Amino acid sequence: MQPVDLVIFGASGDLSARKLFPALFQLLKAGLLPEDLRIAAIARDEVSKEAFLEVLRERFTSRMGEYAPDDDEWQRYSEHFAYIAADFSVIDQYSALKDWLDDARISLFYLATPPSLFAPICSNLDEANCLTGDCRIVLEKPIGESLETSRHVNNTLAKHFDESSIYRIDHYLGKETVQNLLVLRFANRFINSQWDHSCIDHVQITVAETVGIEGRWSYYDNVGQMRDMVQNHLMQLLCLVAMEPPNSLDAESIRDEKVKIVKALRTIDASTVDEHLVRGQYSRGWSVGNAVPGYLEEPGCKASTSNTETFVAIKAHIDNWRWAGVPFYLRTGKRMAEKVTEIIIHYKELPHNIFGRGRNFPNALIIRLQPDEGIEMAMVSKRQSLKDKLALQTHTLNFDFRDGDESERIPDAYERLFLDAINGDQSLFVGREEIEESWRWVDGLIKASEAQSVDAKSYHAGSWGPAKAEILIEKDGRSWHV
Ligand code: NAP
Repeated sequence: MQPVDLVIFGASGDLSARKLFPALFQLLKAGLLPEDLRIAAIARDEVSKEAFLEVLRERFTSRMGEYAPDDDEWQRYSEHFAYIAADFSVIDQYSALKDWLDDARISLFYLATPPSLFAPICSNLDEANCLTGDCRIVLEKPIGESLETSRHVNNTLAKHFDESSIYRIDHYLGKETVQNLLVLRFANRFINSQWDHSCIDHVQITVAETVGIEGRWSYYDNVGQMRDMVQNHLMQLLCLVAMEPPNSLDAESIRDEKVKIVKALRTIDASTVDEHLVRGQYSRGWSVGNAVPGYLEEPGCKASTSNTETFVAIKAHIDNWRWAGVPFYLRTGKRMAEKVTEIIIHYKELPHNIFGRGRNFPNALIIRLQPDEGIEMAMVSKRQSLKDKLALQTHTLNFDFRDGDESERIPDAYERLFLDAINGDQSLFVGREEIEESWRWVDGLIKASEAQSVDAKSYHAGSWGPAKAEILIEKDGRSWHV
């Protein structure tokens, strides 16, 4: 493998400390990265490499628990590092980076910075002559806040990098369960052959968080849950559930199939928005045993009448042959009753049940991404009973990826994604067209909701969202899984 230089912009930030550096540590420890990997951590603080690493180690220890590095492991890890102090918005401050880079090696630039810096960093890298060898760039969401702004970011990127060198992260795609969803669908004939409107009644996707807006009121109030979660994470999960089998596992084939799904999403316009969208905003309540303020009482609140949504429920339809008549119920919110991310495939009832009326328990496939990654199939079996010959019950078949070893660590999504970016595999990264088409759909939904003044209904922190979200699904004779 060609030697790699990894440059982390925003090395002192939350994402770097919580996810990026621990992921690199695990990969190096497992021997999965080149021995001669060089890491340049760049941040503004004028500190030595030793001082930077000392702070980083403290942050590791508080977060990694039993997986925190011992002294020898930390020593070996530190040897990969250089620290460069620079303000990314100032071109003159790129000379130290230029001196450090080596044209004979692959340069992987990771932008763990505020999105407003994406464009200046790209042009400064180019102007400072840092893009001379084989260069790749990795970006975090959000890529824009609308179709127009995402195009602007993508156009800027395209001026400096080829699309084949741009790695847009949606970290949900790095989760083991999400990759397992592809294996489950496309490596198992009996599942694949029943994956359509003839067998599936409906699909639910829930991404629920117990946290609130975590001190980011000003940022969040301009964005809301629709732009923060639906456009990216929910849309990616929806695409992976609904897409046709790709021709192969290469990035282009997978992206082509995902784009087709986004394009097939039925437009929700002003005339249909009331039946398809519920917006909510949390009021004060309880979260994980603690009293918490409402959204409009959060520190930093600047608009006491803000109508920004912290919860969204959507009933979506995919207008293609496979999914005709199958609703996709999507739900995401902050300050919800539980932290859970799951996809539920609800199968149809049997056409005729020989075990008697009212004893139909439709199958369900539960794909859980959080808190415990795993896949379960709810199936019907007979309960052992001499009294009742037809004692039926729902049994759960558990697909355990860990071969039964509960202590085995499930790799973090960022480990997979780093490895793939270093190996030049874009299949778990998001392409430009997917992002822009998904913004097109979300922009339309936001426009329709504004045109109809769809209010963000109040819900108590610690609940499952506004009552209207229950009605959205119950009026179709169905109910949310949790
Ligand atoms: P953060 O904690 O605010 O960190 C931002 C980093 O950028 C800090 O190291 C900051 O350095 C640095 N920075 C800002 N302006 C700079 C400048 N002009 N020159 C040099 N350094 C500068 O943000 P974060 O939470 O890590 O998020 C980073 C990116 O990841 C964002 O795009 C965010 O949307 C995305 N993201 C984050 C998470 C997460 O879990 N945190 C999840 C998904 C996506 P200073 O310390 O000097 O200010």
